[in-house]
Amino acid sequence: MHAMNIRRRWMLRAAGAAFGSLSPWWPGLAWGQAGDLSSREASLAGWRRRIRQILERKRLPIIDVEATYVAGRTNIAYMIDQMNELEVAQIAFAPANAATSQQALDLHREYPEYFIPTSNSGEFPRWWNDPIAFLAGVRRELTTGQYYLMGEHEFRHYPSPEQVAAGQTVRDITIPLDGPAGEALFRLSEDTGLVFQLHYEIEDRLLPALETMLARYPKARLIWCHTAMVRYPQRASSYTPDYVRGLLERFGGLHFDLAIPDPAHVYKPSGERDSTLFSNGRLDGRWQAVIERHPDRFLAASDYRPPVEQQYRDNILRQRTLILDVLSEPSRHQVAYGNAWRLLTGERWTA
Ligand SMILES: [Zn+2]
Repeated sequence: MHAMNIRRRWMLRAAGAAFGSLSPWWPGLAWGQAGDLSSREASLAGWRRRIRQILERKRLPIIDVEATYVAGRTNIAYMIDQMNELEVAQIAFAPANAATSQQALDLHREYPEYFIPTSNSGEFPRWWNDPIAFLAGVRRELTTGQYYLMGEHEFRHYPSPEQVAAGQTVRDITIPLDGPAGEALFRLSEDTGLVFQLHYEIEDRLLPALETMLARYPKARLIWCHTAMVRYPQRASSYTPDYVRGLLERFGGLHFDLAIPDPAHVYKPSGERDSTLFSNGRLDGRWQAVIERHPDRFLAASDYRPPVEQQYRDNILRQRTLILDVLSEPSRHQVAYGNAWRLLTGERWTA
């Protein structure tokens, strides 16, 4: 019944001249109400305006696609100052510790040019205690057509550095990617055309399930967060730049974000340097070659969350100097904001 409604709505729209140029996977549109189109256009116009203002200053705008919003803890005034200073055009803030994704809509309503409505981040107990119920809620929310991206979903997650420091191990998460929750998430992306973010620690034993799902859901689109963040190298011997290049060439819906720690960072529980995208303090040449070969598949991101709010500036500046600045001019524009624009809006960025 759903599928039929979607098709009927799409065909009605496709018949109208105003929609003639849209590709059939325009994210969210198939599910949205026709009445939302004007607010959608207003949202896109505001984002476009801010990106252009930064470009006109001959600076490189960033759309930050991975960030977790926590009401009462995220200092929005501070973040807006940071965004203005660092030329971050937009943040896709995914609310955590919330009953619904409504806060993302509220943020966008209050600061329309700054924040992109993103569904709940799957980084808190409501996700890992009952991922199926969580996704059923997201599915209902996406039918409004008001969201542009699905937040980060943890399927395999080691405790974060700040949790380790606090002696917390509660976020040692394992949810099978090829189980019911993974099926529901990949299917949701196929049904809506929206991209989801995946947190999936890099382990050899976990890769077959990912490849199975990518093959089973070829129209699903996802951003595998934290490129080359390897926290236990002995568990990840098969993950190499060549392996990732192969994945990109086999699976068109797969993307990666560049939210990773600084080159010298050591993940305490393993004692290993986890930012393997870098070697000798700079972008590793083999990884640089993969990004340059597939510049439409990598996205800038901060991994903002409230406990590390004060590091936002360093995280963005590091991404600029160590990654974006060393890419070719066209690739840098794609990775910083062009790919995000395309994935979130369904339109190619045009200046
Ligand atoms: Zn993550």
